[in-house]
Amino acid sequence: MITKKDTAPHALQRSLFNAIFFNAQEPMLVLDKDLNVLLMNAATLKLLGWAGQSLDGKPVSSLVLEKDLKEFSDMAALAARNGVVRNYRFYMLTASRSIARLFLTVLALKDDKGEVNGFCLYLSPVSPDEWSALKDPHVFKNAARKLNRLTSIGQLTSMFAHDIKNPLHVILSTSELLRAQEGQPDQVRTGAELIERNARRASKIVKTLLDFSRSGMCRLEPYSVHTAAESALELIDSSLKSGKVAVEKDCGHAPKVFLDPNYIHSVIYNLLNNALQALAGRHDGRIRISCGWLDAEQEVFLTITDNGPGMEASILENLFQPFFTTKENGTGLGLYLARQIMDEHGGRIIASSPAGGGASISLRFKKTV
Ligand code: ADP
Repeated sequence: MITKKDTAPHALQRSLFNAIFFNAQEPMLVLDKDLNVLLMNAATLKLLGWAGQSLDGKPVSSLVLEKDLKEFSDMAALAARNGVVRNYRFYMLTASRSIARLFLTVLALKDDKGEVNGFCLYLSPVSPDEWSALKDPHVFKNAARKLNRLTSIGQLTSMFAHDIKNPLHVILSTSELLRAQEGQPDQVRTGAELIERNARRASKIVKTLLDFSRSGMCRLEPYSVHTAAESALELIDSSLKSGKVAVEKDCGHAPKVFLDPNYIHSVIYNLLNNALQALAGRHDGRIRISCGWLDAEQEVFLTITDNGPGMEASILENLFQPFFTTKENGTGLGLYLARQIMDEHGGRIIASSPAGGGASISLRFKKTV
């Protein structure tokens, strides 16, 4: 016999599900593992214009252009392998067959045995201006110049990050407190954990943005890329040792370049950290740091190469986009900021991933001493 006491948790679960899925402001949709639509929340139905119609059970091809289907299934496979892909730039089809420009976050759903049995998609619409700005950093810069009420994006970022830091702190500490309290029902504890995890990720993003905007303008000085690499290596040395990653160095002669040591140290540190994370769990992990002079290009290079899984085309295409990440706790800002910093140095950053595996990121400096 079902008593009132037994049904209460189910009713609560239903209300919770309605609150965090069906009636959430953020458009979300759930696909099964064969990429058929299982559920769409109200915000998705509105965004894609399907309100009043049902897509349940239909293949995702009803929502994706035919030419993009392969890319979509590659992205789902990537999410299945990594757990999540955040902020992937993608087009989706609306009910009237027009195009919605979106950032997609794809979360792999897993059963009790840890097998992927579906995907939850978060859809974040992007305006046409933002879309072209993100594709082309120079349009982004021009758009930034137009913000004449604020002198720079840096100022805007720092104000935004400051304003958001305090409420985040309150969310984080309250959820920690709630989770730690004894005798809480499971649903409350799981909810508190979810809030805490997400608040931590948001705090990490805010901290990265604040650190970046605080440093201000680049102050260039004559510096050797070799010295810059050695300093960044020192900072990450203990993590490399505990991850059992071997480091090879191959630095040829190169003139000094004009660079800001603080900024470039943090760029190199981030690249080493990405390589280290890509090598997690491997016994034969290797990172190679090479630097020197390229006669043909008239550039000084500093290249970091690892023998990890490498980056497939879908990752390479999104690599420098802000907030793009395939990591559960990633900010997706490392390479975006690296490119901004290299732009400020009048240099460039190039990513490649040979067919045989492994990833390689090369910093190129033109302003030599
Ligand atoms: P984050 O590290 O926070 O994810 P980044 O901007 O530094 O942000 O990197 C974006 C994405 O690029 C990563 O999530 C990962 O998918 C990919 N990536 C970066 N470096 C490597 C690498 N060395 N090997 C494989 N994938 C990489």
